[in-house]
This record gives sequence, C-alpha cells and structure tokens, in this order.
Amino acid sequence: MRVLVALGGNAILQRGQKGNASEQRENVQKTVTQIVRMIHAGHEVVVTHGNGPQVGAILIQNELGSASVPAMPMDICGAESQGLIGYMFCQSIQNTLLADGIEGHAPACLVTRVEVDPADPAFAHPTKPVGPFYTEEAAKKRSAETGETWIDDAGRGWRRVVPSPDPKTIVEADVINTLLEKGFTVVASGGGGIPVIRKEDGTWEGVEAVIDKDLAGERLAASVKADLLMILTDVPRVAINYNTPQQKWLEKLTLSEMEVLEKEGHFKAGSMGPKVKAALRFVRNGGQRAVIASLDEALEALEGTKGTQILKG
Ligand code: ADP
Ligand code: MG
Repeated sequence: MRVLVALGGNAILQRGQKGNASEQRENVQKTVTQIVRMIHAGHEVVVTHGNGPQVGAILIQNELGSASVPAMPMDICGAESQGLIGYMFCQSIQNTLLADGIEGHAPACLVTRVEVDPADPAFAHPTKPVGPFYTEEAAKKRSAETGETWIDDAGRGWRRVVPSPDPKTIVEADVINTLLEKGFTVVASGGGGIPVIRKEDGTWEGVEAVIDKDLAGERLAASVKADLLMILTDVPRVAINYNTPQQKWLEKLTLSEMEVLEKEGHFKAGSMGPKVKAALRFVRNGGQRAVIASLDEALEALEGTKGTQILKG
C-alpha cells in the first residue's frame, strides 16, 4: 500500500518539553522507528508533519534578533522549519534503514509550497496565533505600525494571529511523484506547506498565513494517489463527547456515519476538527480508507486493528 502519514506535534516534541535539539532528535527517532516498521512490512510511506513549536521558535528568534539581523517573513520562516524538521527525519530514516539492513527507500525531504486562494475568506478573518506573546501595549503599537492583527490569546498575553486558508494544490506534486517513482521515501509539505498564491501573470508569491497540516496532508495524499491517509497524533482514537463522562471512542465507521457526527459538533476546531475534515475529504474524493490513530500504534492502525477507521460508504 502507498500510505500518506501525517504526523502531529508529538512526533517531534512531547508536551512540556523545551524543544532542544536532543529532545527533538530522540522523538523523531521514535517516530521513524514506526515509519520504518511500515516500510519493513512492505508499504510505501510518504511523510508529512506539523511545525507549530518549531516555526514558533524561529519567529521568536527572528523577533529577538531583529536589532542585529533582519527578521524574515512567515513564508520564509515556514521554509526554514521544513528544512530543520526534514533534515532530522532524513538523517533518522537513513540511519534506521541502514541499521535494519533495509535496501532502497532512501529519504528525500522537499521544501514544499501549497497553493491557497487569495479570495479565501480566511484572509479576512485571521484566527491562528503564531510567534511570541506581547503585552497589550506592545501588541497594539506593533499592530498600528505593521497592520498585523494581534489578539488577547486566552488571557495568556497578546499574540499575532494569521489567516489559515484552505489548501488547494501541492505545487511540487510532480516532483514528489517523480521521487516516489524512483523509490524514495518522501518527506513533504511540512507544517502544512508554505502558503503561496498564484498571481494573474501565473507567477507565485508567498503569503503571511499558515495552512493546517492535516488538510494539506489530504491534498498531498490525493496528489500521490495514496491508498490510505493516516493521521497520527497523541490520542488512540477519535471520540464523541470527548472529555465528558459520555465519552466514547470510535473504531470503524463509514464516511456517512462520520459526517453525521461531524455535523453534531463532536470534533474541536484547531485539533480534532481538521483531522476529521481531512479524513472525510480523502474518502469522499475517492480514497479507500482514512485512519486517525496514536503514533505508537501506527502499524496496527495501518493494518486496520487500531485507531478510528473511516471507510467508504
Ligand atoms: P496534532 O499535533 O497531532 O495535530 P492536536 O493537538 O492538534 O495534535 O490534536 C490532537 C488533540 O485533539 C488530542 O490531544 C485531543 O486532546 C484533542 N481532541 C479534541 N477533540 C477530540 C475528540 N473528539 N476525540 C479525540 N481527541 C480530541
Ligand atoms: Mg493539530
């Protein structure tokens, strides 16, 4: 099977960790152990991943260093984060294949752009908090100077919010498919991809926005004609009535059964919501199966015995 694996934040950093290089390397190595298990079982794996804490750190570094070196815009920071995370994955995948005596499947990490629609309503309503926390005064000053939108982030301080438009196409789709045909294990569209818009003259331009990595993962899965979209995170399954006494884990459902639950509002925006949306899109657009599962149970989820399985119908 060709499997698109979308990795959550826990694949690179555990909650509560500081984010130093050794922690991230260790987490990536554990994740790669799961990925290589799938390769060993005969599957072709395409990897995508989140970048929240990493791009957050880059934005803070840019901010604090801006008196000495110019700060970079968000699209460039996104590209940086793809490089730093992609590098850790490549190193780890290559070394693990070597240690396990598996031939072929060499990793290739691709800086990936994802097309968004400049008319997407998200651009009028920035919702995604990014970067450092400011005081109210500093945030308002900055907002007046730059035109950026800053909001009070749940009482934790003021934070910049940027639009989170819906991904349309993976700009590098042809390159990715060429790498897959040659047998590479591709890591692409990290952090949901670098959001770019297509201008009237056909040229591309990066924008100050972030794309949800699960929704972009679905576009990538469709672009490579994956048999399975696998979204790995830090809970074993999707639940209804999550975090209430009525909580119930979901095991195996059809597309239409899951659509009903989605309409009932069981899946929170910003966390489980986009995962379910991505999974439903994948199956609706002709994919065989999507699964949302725990990173620790990746191979079992692939084989259909763990996670929340969403099937045609
Ligand atoms: P990731 O980095 O993997 O994208 P998120 O934090 O965005 O992780 O999403 C996973 C989280 O979604 C879980 O840790 C869980 O707390 C939360 N969540 C919200 N609603 C649900 C639900 N209905 N069922 C399961 N988990 C849910
Ligand atoms: Mg998430």
